[in-house]
Amino acid sequence: ASVAHDAACIFCKIIKGEIPSFKLIETKYSFSFLDIQPTARGHILVIPKYHGAKLHNIPDEHLSDILPVTKKLVKLLDLDIDDDVPGYNFLQNNGKIAHQEVKHVHFHLIPKRDKDTGLI
Ligand code: 5GP
Ligand code: ZN
Repeated sequence: ASVAHDAACIFCKIIKGEIPSFKLIETKYSFSFLDIQPTARGHILVIPKYHGAKLHNIPDEHLSDILPVTKKLVKLLDLDIDDDVPGYNFLQNNGKIAHQEVKHVHFHLIPKRDKDTGLI
């Protein structure tokens, strides 16, 4: 299976270890790490190892790894509680007009531990 890379992409460099990151879970298809500018404690980015700018560029087998990994991260962060609080946002931006800054698909997992923290 071939994996697309972009030698100039900061997230491809993070996957390869060329830029340091605080890694959480790595699988054959995905890589997750702490966001460098967290909007809440434990703000995580989950990315496919396949380089593509937008969601529709990523092959299904790479995408289908993301949600099971995210469930594991929710447990790691003790957010797997069936109550109003805590909660979490799981979101993804595509294109500059939609507030995407890094052009390698990434999913934000943002803990919501009280009503007043986090962006959303
Ligand atoms: P976007 O606005 O593209 O959806 O979000 C990009 C995210 O990547 C931002 O939350 C930003 O803080 C994060 N980010 C950008 N560069 C780096 C980096 O070099 N390391 C890490 N860990 N996060 C980064
Ligand atoms: Zn990339």
